[in-house]
Amino acid sequence: MRKPLNPSPFASGTLNRFGRSSLGSGPSPANSNTRILGTGPVARPGPSSPLRPVSPGSSPLNSDRARERMVSRLREQGIEDERVLAAMREVPRHLFVDEGLASHAYEDRALPIGHEQTISQPWVVARMISVLIEGREPAKVLEVGAGCGYQAAVLAHVLREVHTIERVHGLYEMARANLQKLRLPGRVRVVFGDGMAGLPGSAPFDGIVVAAAGLKIPQALLDQLAIGGRLVAPEGGSTQRLVLIERTGNSTWNRQELDAVRFVPLRPGTQY
Ligand code: SAH
Repeated sequence: MRKPLNPSPFASGTLNRFGRSSLGSGPSPANSNTRILGTGPVARPGPSSPLRPVSPGSSPLNSDRARERMVSRLREQGIEDERVLAAMREVPRHLFVDEGLASHAYEDRALPIGHEQTISQPWVVARMISVLIEGREPAKVLEVGAGCGYQAAVLAHVLREVHTIERVHGLYEMARANLQKLRLPGRVRVVFGDGMAGLPGSAPFDGIVVAAAGLKIPQALLDQLAIGGRLVAPEGGSTQRLVLIERTGNSTWNRQELDAVRFVPLRPGTQY
């Protein structure tokens, strides 16, 4: 189950061929893995138009320019870390979503990826990584909830070693396929399993980023953080906040609450 990815870049192609029927199911995608506006430090309304699948090729996507615009918008929304902005400029987000949604890939919204899950909103990805690496240069991170692999790709542009774990088998396979197609500066290892237990065999981590919300952050993850390391995770049920936890000693952690968000749930076990 544990396979190292990279180096093996190969030609890009059409990705994410999951059934269209899965696009409409599950939680409202625009409300998953997103910031809740109006309660965060920067309030700027996001797009609210409904998602309309666009047939491939009907509007040619200039992805470089679209990403540049996305990065400008992230700056306006308060993202300042140049390492994060550069990584967001590099990663082709449109290759991580179904081709019918590619024309929406650079809007500031979550999008469905099948299995009732979403690719995180660009702002959320940029914000979580900015908080994770603020004032430091972590080398090894764990991501819980690989989804389609987008955030792992962004992380691999910022640091050397990314371990990402996904509990839904179809998404684990999607993340691996998507990440294998990119030339990434850092190494990414994709693991199929329950990320609530972390990856004790690879711990300690300089950073841990959790892409799904639990009522409480699992103690196993706090224990796998290196001293001085940071964990960023959404926490809560119907109302959620991003939480930053810094490990200050063997059995001491500092906790800080950040933006109001809404994420898909952190669930135990695995799913085929
Ligand atoms: N990182 C993704 C976000 C994916 S959505 C991105 O780049 O956009 C969150 C993901 O967390 C879902 O794929 C969901 O299946 C996964 N997840 C939820 N609980 C989990 C658990 N206990 N272990 C691993 N993955 C989990």
